[in-house]
Amino acid sequence: MALYGAIEAGGTKWVCAIGSNPNDIGEIVRFPTTTPAETLGQALGFFRQYPAITALGIGSFGPVDLHKHSPTYGSITTTPKPGWANTDVAGVFERELGIPVGFDTDVNAAALGEHRWGAAQDVDTFVNITVGTGIGGGVMVGGRLLHGLLHPEVGHMLIPRDGERDPYEGACPYHGDCLEGLAAGPALLGRWGVRGETLPPDHAAWPLEAHYLALACANLALILSPQRIILGGGVMHQPSMFPLVRAELKRALNGYLRMPQLDSEIASYVVPPGLGDRAGVLGALALAQLAAS
Ligand code: ZN
Repeated sequence: MALYGAIEAGGTKWVCAIGSNPNDIGEIVRFPTTTPAETLGQALGFFRQYPAITALGIGSFGPVDLHKHSPTYGSITTTPKPGWANTDVAGVFERELGIPVGFDTDVNAAALGEHRWGAAQDVDTFVNITVGTGIGGGVMVGGRLLHGLLHPEVGHMLIPRDGERDPYEGACPYHGDCLEGLAAGPALLGRWGVRGETLPPDHAAWPLEAHYLALACANLALILSPQRIILGGGVMHQPSMFPLVRAELKRALNGYLRMPQLDSEIASYVVPPGLGDRAGVLGALALAQLAAS
């Protein structure tokens, strides 16, 4: 069986793994994202121990350049993360390891993993959203990951905020009260003064959080016509969230999209990731498989 390398290249930590498929993952290592030189060096050191790997997949934080013919293809571009703007990532591994490298956003990689092995195996058009320190969304349309002009930036979609219900002005340095600015982890902390995981299940934070995520789901349902929406990440670990988001989504659409998936079958429309917190690294493994084929 062919052996692949996988990198979930996050803004706070990198996860590197080798394996053939989700049931056959060998070693996994995790280390914090420090400087590009140190972080890339650590990952290279790990994969050099496995000369048998035939391809590498990287799901990266971004924004990233995904245009194959661009001179900066495979690099992280305009990130505010100190030291990482305009950092070549894919090219470094391609040169140093001499193997094909598949490269995409971290959330697109996770979507690919969910399509291959997780909660989206039976559909070909869906969105996979992660709600954590930031909000990101990978999009697959007709079996292909959506890139387009740049790549989808689901987290920064603009949604209405009722200033009376929610006077918090948002945490996004670019937009203030975009989706990420209102609903990612830092917004919970900024609005309520405590971290999301310490808020009790009956706290007013959760209906508001569900309201914002449901508005995002409604926009996505209307624009992309996805057959499923996967919601993952730390914030979705709060057990009350799925029923709240589903109810708010129905309310937001108000019967306009007459499909059972948005009515009686909504529990199978808005779902948690099938791969759990392994979606990122397994998605990178799927990228490696694609790069090798
Ligand atoms: Zn924003």
